[in-house]
Amino acid sequence: MIERFSHSSLETFKKCPVQFKIRYLDKVLKPDESIEAFLGKRLHETVEYLYNTVGENGTPMLDIVMDKFQEYWESSWHNRIGIVRWREYRAEDYYALGEKCLAKFYRQYKPFDEPAVGNELELVFHLDDSKNYKIKGILDRVDHDGSGKWEIHDYKSGKRALTQGAANRDTQLALYQIGLEKKFDNVNEVELVWHFLQHGIEMRSRRTKEELKLLSENIKTRIDNIRTAIADKHDFPAKESILCNWCYYWDECPAKYRPNPFIRKY
Ligand code: SF4
Repeated sequence: MIERFSHSSLETFKKCPVQFKIRYLDKVLKPDESIEAFLGKRLHETVEYLYNTVGENGTPMLDIVMDKFQEYWESSWHNRIGIVRWREYRAEDYYALGEKCLAKFYRQYKPFDEPAVGNELELVFHLDDSKNYKIKGILDRVDHDGSGKWEIHDYKSGKRALTQGAANRDTQLALYQIGLEKKFDNVNEVELVWHFLQHGIEMRSRRTKEELKLLSENIKTRIDNIRTAIADKHDFPAKESILCNWCYYWDECPAKYRPNPFIRKY
């Protein structure tokens, strides 16, 4: 029985049920990760460091931020990082991309005086009073102006930026809004903000109460479907797609049952 879900686990079930089974039911944990995921984590850590430092010691110089990025990169590096696009890019290219993202972000937001009240803020909440639908989320950054106006920020390090329409349909930050409204008083308005670090652009969106209610019901239905599949010992089908290239579960996947040939360890 899974008691707690995350947006990521729910999306995994939607995209590939067998991957969900391998990761969340069979609990096959692997140290492997893609270079894109590795880069994303180091960028998140560096931006978190930036906002924490501003709060304590004032705005750090860009050089200091870059040094921190290098420190996080080098101290976290391990030998299970895969580069799918190894014909075009090396690890150094991803490192340089990270530096470019940070330089853009720094120029855009210096002196970082947004009213950040949480970095990497963990929220655990129930979707309704039954307490059957428990969700955990980690919010990259939360701003609050002190009088009920909140913003939920998300840093995206991938190549693609959302269109306004896609941002308006996105469920991750909207789910976090549900949690934020349950956890804090005086939430009068919430804006959802994505930062597309490669492009140096941001996208903003808002949700109505009706949209949040509908999302909550949809998520509950998905959780019910997962629980039914588990209880009835249903098959968790493999949904093959381009995403298989980045998947580390080929050895366990019934559609593959062989090592992933697209991943080259660096
Ligand atoms: S290899 Fe593809 S089909 Fe198999 S678990 Fe991974 S994503 Fe799913």
